[in-house]
Amino acid sequence: METKRAYINMEDPDPEALKEAAALLRSGEIVAFPTETVYGLGANALNAEACARIFEVKGRPQDNPLIVHVNSRMMADKLVARWTEAAEICARTLWPGPLTLILPKNDFVPDRVTAGLDTVAIRMPDHPVALALIEESGLPLAAPSANLSGRPSPTTGSHVWEDMRGRIPLILDAGSCEVGLESTVLDVSGEVPVILRPGGLAREELEKVLGPVELDHPSASSVPRSPGLKYRHYAPRGEMYVVVGAREKVLDRISQEIKKGHYQHKKIGILCTLESAPHIQTEQPDLLYVLGSQARPREVAASLFAGLRLCDQRGIELVLAEGFEEGGLGLAIMNRLEKASGHKTLYV
Ligand code: AMP
Ligand code: MG
Repeated sequence: METKRAYINMEDPDPEALKEAAALLRSGEIVAFPTETVYGLGANALNAEACARIFEVKGRPQDNPLIVHVNSRMMADKLVARWTEAAEICARTLWPGPLTLILPKNDFVPDRVTAGLDTVAIRMPDHPVALALIEESGLPLAAPSANLSGRPSPTTGSHVWEDMRGRIPLILDAGSCEVGLESTVLDVSGEVPVILRPGGLAREELEKVLGPVELDHPSASSVPRSPGLKYRHYAPRGEMYVVVGAREKVLDRISQEIKKGHYQHKKIGILCTLESAPHIQTEQPDLLYVLGSQARPREVAASLFAGLRLCDQRGIELVLAEGFEEGGLGLAIMNRLEKASGHKTLYV
């Protein structure tokens, strides 16, 4: 299949490109589109066959449900059987934004979308192109991240092109995603709100409007409440380690590992903060990728997936990432780093 890449201005989206994309979606095709978190691989959420194709195109495990994107509360109402007070508060105060709400689903939401669960995941994205596309098509859009399953999520149109070229008819390319991490998945179907996946909206922000919010700790033995969480994700091709501890010790350990890697003739990539880069530079890794300043976690979040992909582009065989404090966005950043490394964490 030939893939068209339509460049689209985020501030002033071209109506023709939106019309073309909307027509494809209405005819059951798949279109990649930008959101503020990462790029999505969208299909009509009410068309089970179109949604089934998303799984094929991505190579996504069948039991990993999709998030449905809406542009109004009214559209969300049609998908949801019952709202809770916490859900009402979130929708009113935090949408549009990087927050996905899990709620009891209405009957006509296809099982294909929810992987047979009786709840549905819904989000209103904060991106003019995503909102305009939903408006133009008149459809709720089921959309997982637009990467091949297992690879780092795409935060630029080029990342989508890399993974989806030849697989889908159209990519809407609006450049970089501002948040750069997937949404926070919050189960608001029960008594106490529970974060199933940390993401672009910090727990602290949720607690400001909801009071205490729990954090789900999926264990290997139990059935995860969010099926997607049991899979390896975001992984670069090289072997990856996250180094966690006091900064001096982390820098020492990274230096040691680079020396060891050089000795083994491995191509070495480092993902670290702006503050640590000068210390690591002296060891001459093959790639030194600055994620951003320690003082500006938003910067780190926005550049993380691009850094993991760059490691692959450069043929890096050993990736070492500096760990982060788990407060604020740090929780989601560490969650992605740990998954990318297959939980190979070096505590120093
Ligand atoms: P992705 O689309 O790749 O960002 O992944 C979507 C995430 O949302 C996965 O971790 C899913 O497990 C989770 N998710 C989607 N629907 C539900 C649901 N009904 N209940 C719990 N988790 C869900
Ligand atoms: Mg994904």
